[in-house]
Amino acid sequence: MENTSINEKDFTMSQLNAKYMQDENAAFSYLEDIIWPSGPVCPNCGVTDNAYALQGVRTKPSKKCPEGKIRHGLKKCRDCGKQFTVRIGTMFESSHIELHLWLRAIFLLCTSNRKISAVQLHQKLGITVKSAWLLGRRIRKAMPNDSTISKKTKLPEP
Ligand SMILES: [Zn+2]
Repeated sequence: MENTSINEKDFTMSQLNAKYMQDENAAFSYLEDIIWPSGPVCPNCGVTDNAYALQGVRTKPSKKCPEGKIRHGLKKCRDCGKQFTVRIGTMFESSHIELHLWLRAIFLLCTSNRKISAVQLHQKLGITVKSAWLLGRRIRKAMPNDSTISKKTKLPEP
């Protein structure tokens, strides 16, 4: 069998420059294509491909962000009327870290064979050390074991 593992040598800046690792909308599209190949699946009623995108919805204003943050990837189910995003039911759920940063973190963890530290993640992603630590922990937990990492996380060329 061919050796398909990813190592440091394969780690190129061009992959980190992929749009889905830079741009939040692109990150959502990227993940939606993987998780919902047949269209959005409502996590509330289970209906497939009967939701529409909600544009321009913002979170409640906060001190840090008085205008509220844009809620990327927000969908509304035509069947049950509930709102959802592709993050629900994944390890990205209930995290305030932007999705494209999650994708970068996964990439960095995989290409470093999990050896990247929270401090390094914090520096590379510009998030707090605490967030970086939580991110790293969740991603490592989602990786079943070393032998399957490379297959599961092989990212397509940008
Ligand atoms: Zn629904």
